[in-house]
Amino acid sequence: MTPGRSVSNLSWSAPVDKNQPPRQGLRPPLDPADLRLPEGMRFSCHQSGRCCEDFWEIPLDGASFERLKSLPLETISPRFAELAGYTEPACGRKGALGLRRVEGRCVFLDPDRRCLIHSRFGPAAKPQACLDFPFRYVCTPRGVFVGLSLVCPSVRAGRGRPLEEQRAEIAANFARSLSVSTVPERVELSPGLDLEFEIYEQVEECLYRLLELETLSLDDRLGAGYVFLQLLDRAVRELGAEGEASAQTSRLIEVFRADEFRRVTTIARKARGSARVHRALLGLLITYRSAFGERRRGRLGQAGYLLYQYFRGLGGLGSLAMVPIRGRVAFRRLRGVRAEWSRPDFVEQIGLFCRHSIFRKDLVLSGSVLKGYGFLLVFVALIRWYALAYAASRGRGMVGDEDLGSAIEAIEKYYCFHTDFMRLFEDYPLLSWMVDQVLAKPAFAPTMLRPKGP
Ligand code: SF4
Repeated sequence: MTPGRSVSNLSWSAPVDKNQPPRQGLRPPLDPADLRLPEGMRFSCHQSGRCCEDFWEIPLDGASFERLKSLPLETISPRFAELAGYTEPACGRKGALGLRRVEGRCVFLDPDRRCLIHSRFGPAAKPQACLDFPFRYVCTPRGVFVGLSLVCPSVRAGRGRPLEEQRAEIAANFARSLSVSTVPERVELSPGLDLEFEIYEQVEECLYRLLELETLSLDDRLGAGYVFLQLLDRAVRELGAEGEASAQTSRLIEVFRADEFRRVTTIARKARGSARVHRALLGLLITYRSAFGERRRGRLGQAGYLLYQYFRGLGGLGSLAMVPIRGRVAFRRLRGVRAEWSRPDFVEQIGLFCRHSIFRKDLVLSGSVLKGYGFLLVFVALIRWYALAYAASRGRGMVGDEDLGSAIEAIEKYYCFHTDFMRLFEDYPLLSWMVDQVLAKPAFAPTMLRPKGP
């Protein structure tokens, strides 16, 4: 995997399972009852246009391409009479096509943010990637989980029809979807320690339970989740019965439950983090994300640049390029913006991001559960930094709703749901080692969560 290719390869569809047929109509129909829907979530398209613009690729699969070619697109505009008028080569995939973008917007998006294909020929005429949005299907031994992209403002705000009412439509779309992943048969709690999926579900249930502890702040709830995973992992390893990790995990979970997670929450509340490491690590990740979409530096030059930024971050010096925000953002400007992170609606938005990431199996799909949860905490910290940066770029001294919404959208798009960015660390052993060292520290969670800004 080359950094340049992967970092720029943002697309509507989540990373696609190579074992799934790429063409439409080849997946067996799904019984709607086998869908696992996220409780209480809603979605209807309110034409925000957020999924049709902002530089990401809109892939065209073969069937969608044929469908588009069969439509009288020239009746919309003479420029659509030619293929080049509405397609462009897809990034990094030889011979593949995507929808053409002009100034970062799909050519079919009209000035009122309406899709011209939808309004002229009906919703079913749209490319499959458009029909998939905002859904991603995750196949597991316990049914197909339906995750949603929090890039969509309607999903974030819970506007639209309840998903439960759309069960049959969502199941029908599964058969031809381009956005399908499959969890591995055994789930890694940490490298080399794997569990049956049913046991992993017990781990997940504990994480939800900790996230609901209203007597704690959101940060302490999230920190308690990390302490729980670390203690569980350590205890299973110490018991060390070869091949019995699932049974040991299940027994240990009962012990945590019987204690009502008191030990875990006590440790989480007492833990203290480091503001300097917080700054350095997040500054490094942001630099990594922004710089590695380009091919300006060689591998050695990139490593040197990252180390330079790491030490600048430690001292809170200089500025950062934070895609997709235009221009560089100085640490000084970020520190000049205030935020009330304990505001109930902010807690709700960030809590939704965390709960839904767990539901849609992000922890499992990003490698081991412990690492996946560590990255979840990193994403929460990044959301806060981005919210500060959006507020600064809009000339505000205080983070508002719009800034937090934009921040969640940016993290989903550029770090999390729509990119396999975090997997790029595998290409850089030194960076990967540094991240693993930080993740293994007991102070990792408070280091990510307590210092709430740069
Ligand atoms: S074809 Fe329509 S729905 Fe798809 S990206 Fe373009 S404007 Fe959006």
